[in-house]
Amino acid sequence: MSGKKTGIFKEFKEFITRGNVLDMAVGIIIGGAFTAIVNSLVNDILNPFINTIFGGFGFDGMNLVVKLPWVTLMRNMGLNVEYPVFAFGNFISAVISFLITAVALFFLIKGINAVKKLAEKKKADEEAPAPTTKICPYCRSEINIEATRCPHCTSQL
Ligand SMILES: [Zn+2]
Repeated sequence: MSGKKTGIFKEFKEFITRGNVLDMAVGIIIGGAFTAIVNSLVNDILNPFINTIFGGFGFDGMNLVVKLPWVTLMRNMGLNVEYPVFAFGNFISAVISFLITAVALFFLIKGINAVKKLAEKKKADEEAPAPTTKICPYCRSEINIEATRCPHCTSQL
């Protein structure tokens, strides 16, 4: 019984210390916050602006009441049934939010990749071994970097 318990605990510990679990958690939290910002941008700034262009008829007012015949029938029978409302303005807002998020993510990933590439290049440059040879200015032979006399042409360097 206790052996099974420690097994699950060990498994959970391995899962949580794998590292990418924490990265994922940070990603989800940042993603949620970012979604709120994009939604606010669309609903609080973009939509009121679009409303002024279309003379007060923006995404908020784009609702389509669908007068389904069977609902009409039920209403005629005295039943309290509402017609379905297709809020396609909200749907358009969601599509715009998605596009803004996609574009923002594209540039974010592009930026991260550029920084990563730069860091990798810097690391490669630092790891490159220091030169151990030099070229003799008289005979153009490759000689030891610390040589004071060329072994090929015996010139003093
Ligand atoms: Zn030489």
